[in-house]
Amino acid sequence: MMNIVLMGPPGAGKGTQAEVMARKLFVPHISTGDIFRANIKAGTELGQLANQYISKGDLVPDEVTMGMIKDRLSEDDCKDGFILDGLPRTIVQADALAAILAEQGKKLDKVVNIDVPTDKLIERLSGRRVCRNCAQTYHLVNNPPTEPGRCDECGGELYQRADDAVETIQNRLDVYQAQSAPLIEYYAAKGLLLSINGDQSINNVLVEVGNGLGLNW
Ligand code: ADP
Ligand code: AMP
Repeated sequence: MMNIVLMGPPGAGKGTQAEVMARKLFVPHISTGDIFRANIKAGTELGQLANQYISKGDLVPDEVTMGMIKDRLSEDDCKDGFILDGLPRTIVQADALAAILAEQGKKLDKVVNIDVPTDKLIERLSGRRVCRNCAQTYHLVNNPPTEPGRCDECGGELYQRADDAVETIQNRLDVYQAQSAPLIEYYAAKGLLLSINGDQSINNVLVEVGNGLGLNW
């Protein structure tokens, strides 16, 4: 049983690592961004509401986000653990998450913080491409698909997220500094924080995370 949170600024590599970790640990990868985007694509009420914030690079309000994640964490596949990617992003969310888990008789085991310098984040975000079909993430230079524009996993079409446009990236980085960066201290004080140097190859980051979690993968 491993209940893990992956934190870090936009573009740090949370989704990339979470995907592999989830497969290795046989637990679900829960990305709040992916859930919002699936709702936007499906045209749900939640998607329409969330998109007003996401398109500007702002955070979706805490009550909306926590309502959504409470439902997701209650699903059966979370009973033996999960990798939470993209939540919490505020102290309010962190407290609410602890309360939801406590209600279920659970707690977080580790919070992995992936640290990457800002100039690298901009390069990673602007080169990011995502599969429209399965949400697998690529990078034009750092992690390109075998066939340009096509997902290696499912053959789906790759696209650029609207919020990965340069104009939105800066706001997302500012929002991160103002609202999410304080979570590093918050979780350090609880003794849950594992800090990882994310400014290295995808595979080396994975190895460092594995070592930090005491898993030999
Ligand atoms: P996040 O989920 O933290 O926003 P992603 O996992 O989507 O970040 O990664 C952002 C971009 O950077 C993607 O295009 C991804 O392919 C690329 N990337 C991820 N990890 C690394 C790494 N260690 N080195 C270089 N590029 C990376
Ligand atoms: P991500 O896919 O993690 O980069 O998230 C994309 C966007 O979804 C963010 O810029 C936010 O607008 C929104 N979002 C994702 N997770 C959260 C969260 N925990 N709280 C508020 N907004 C979120």
